[in-house]
Amino acid sequence: MATTHEQFWVRKPGKFDLADMPTKPEADLEREAVETMTEQLGKEMEELLDLLFFAGKHGFLIVLQGMDTAGKDGTIRHMLRFTHAQSVRVASFKVPTPQELAHDFLWRCHDKTPGKGETVIFNRSHYEDVGVVRVHNLVDESVWKKRFDHINAFENLLVDSNTIVLKVFLHISKEEQEERLLEREQDAEDAWKLSVNDWKERRYWKEYQEAYSDAIGKCASQDAPWLVVPGDKKWFRNYIVTQAVVETLKPYREEWMESLKQVGKEAKKELERFRIAAPQK
Ligand code: ADP
Repeated sequence: MATTHEQFWVRKPGKFDLADMPTKPEADLEREAVETMTEQLGKEMEELLDLLFFAGKHGFLIVLQGMDTAGKDGTIRHMLRFTHAQSVRVASFKVPTPQELAHDFLWRCHDKTPGKGETVIFNRSHYEDVGVVRVHNLVDESVWKKRFDHINAFENLLVDSNTIVLKVFLHISKEEQEERLLEREQDAEDAWKLSVNDWKERRYWKEYQEAYSDAIGKCASQDAPWLVVPGDKKWFRNYIVTQAVVETLKPYREEWMESLKQVGKEAKKELERFRIAAPQK
């Protein structure tokens, strides 16, 4: 399916380098106009997510990855504005617990995948197991190298089980990260987000970019594509992510509407049968 911002999508496995992707919006875009479009797309997204929920035929998994401060939390907050609590969940993946470590790396993720009708946003994901784990040598190279195949098999299984998979990498520049980290120090309200660990991890910027480039290139497919979003401007990031969700779900719209119509027809017939069998007093 061709989309409006096809240049940000990676839909085929192959050599991929994040350095070739922009972190900033096109220069001639006006923030206000973009924000208006985002609001419209948000309403469309809300309608599509409702249809997905009521039709109950597909699950929807959004995987969110990015460097520290890339905007995972902000993106989730933005998306939740257009969703209903009954159909959407966020699953956050932190340093694995001893119990999680005692299992294969996909175990904790598989458990959190969406059932039919549900939308789940993964805040970090199984890609940490070829990201931070690789950068810090938490397992041998021979172990993490095999994980790309495991991830592809896992995502194929989800797709074959009617899960729509969209993977989003929030791509920020190293300079933007520094600015955001410094801002946190100055802003009393944001100080709680301060972590010395973010500064420590920043020293591994190149290694992380390499690890994520590799993961995106090895685990991109038509059915489980990556969207590499220019993340330096939050308003553009929100626009691109919302547009991607709408364009991912739109092809299912007719099918979901049709299925709901059928359910309605069946319900009406059943009611008629009930009334004939037991006329109202
Ligand atoms: P966040 O940064 O997502 O807001 P935290 O500050 O709690 O939340 O960070 C979560 C940490 O857990 C990150 O440093 C991340 O790299 C780490 N993490 C997630 N998954 C794994 C994993 N499989 N192995 C090791 N560390 C992980």
